[in-house]
Amino acid sequence: MPVNSQQTDRGPLQGQAPPEDTERRSERLLGPETTWQRRLPQPAVPERETRAVPSRTWPEHGSDFRRSHVVFDNAHHGEWLDTVVAQSVTGAAATQPSHIVRCVPCQLIHAWPLPDEAALTQYYQTTFYQRSHPDYVARYERDREWWIMTHQTILMAALPHVPVIQEWEGGGHRHLPSLLEIGSGPGIALDVAKAMGCRTFGLELDATLAASTRARGHSIREESWQTFHVTHGHPVFDLVYVYEVLEHQVNPEALLLACWDFLRVGGVLVVEVPNDYNPLQLAACARHGLSPWWLAPPEHLTYFTPETLRLLMRRCGFDLVVYRSTYPMEQFLLAEPPVLYVGNDLLGRICHEQRMATELAQWKAGQWSAVDTAYTEQLQHEGSGRELVAIATKRP
Ligand SMILES: [Zn+2]
Repeated sequence: MPVNSQQTDRGPLQGQAPPEDTERRSERLLGPETTWQRRLPQPAVPERETRAVPSRTWPEHGSDFRRSHVVFDNAHHGEWLDTVVAQSVTGAAATQPSHIVRCVPCQLIHAWPLPDEAALTQYYQTTFYQRSHPDYVARYERDREWWIMTHQTILMAALPHVPVIQEWEGGGHRHLPSLLEIGSGPGIALDVAKAMGCRTFGLELDATLAASTRARGHSIREESWQTFHVTHGHPVFDLVYVYEVLEHQVNPEALLLACWDFLRVGGVLVVEVPNDYNPLQLAACARHGLSPWWLAPPEHLTYFTPETLRLLMRRCGFDLVVYRSTYPMEQFLLAEPPVLYVGNDLLGRICHEQRMATELAQWKAGQWSAVDTAYTEQLQHEGSGRELVAIATKRP
């Protein structure tokens, strides 16, 4: 159940006219006297020296508490960060307050109260794609080339660490690496993995998406990772792929521990999650008086920072081999003049198209390794970038 990288850059709302030409639409939105190429910031990764980045890292793990400490129950207490209104996953009540806490026992920032796991599973079976995000798959298909590039660049970095690949290079026995994707959604990552020589397996709760992905030659089971873990919690996979799924979990630690069980010794885990409460988001909130727009319970329940994801992977038995972030989307909010895409789906879409066009151009020009290095450095130096990409090996 991957979600779009930006909560706010969802495509045109359902029922609106078909999408018009990107440049024409941008001119209409941003004014006739200029084009969006001139108005929008151009560099893929802004120069750190020229961008004002706040030095504070609040509320990163290990920083000082700034707001009151609240005790929700025996398992969850910590610094209260925000409260937002969330839809109920059960339908019993239309909405309820959701508190965001930097939880001491969990060492994570997460929503409270947490929904019931069975109700959440049913939500992804019946509601997420069908009713909450009916245009979701169409948007994936429209951006398919960029998604292929995104998954291919991640798998190119991950596959060399897979034991079976190393056996090949040593002239040993050859068999195709097996990849399990948890929450395979539209299945584009599986398509890419298959094209790169993997045997592909997926878990997907939505029956329609499972059927369409299965029809393209992948082995898909319509069940939760929890039930699959009960019946198949054996070390048989070479690579497990968890793309924009971990932040949806009631218990992300339990999912990573299940991944440890699914992987062969030395197997590779790929995790991608949004990078939330990041310095550019906090700077944009301070500059424009925005409330934290990235909070999206009950769909996003954990809000990962570079440190909390790193610690979680380490205590679940994984050693990081690649850790980078992605395109710093929030640069649009901090540009001169700013492009205020928060709450504006069309502007969000335009910024997302700019990101895709920039990255695809760099990829096609053979410059991805430089982009990869820049995304690694920006994560190390300032913790920015819209998403976190972690590639780790299973510790024996
Ligand atoms: Zn907690």
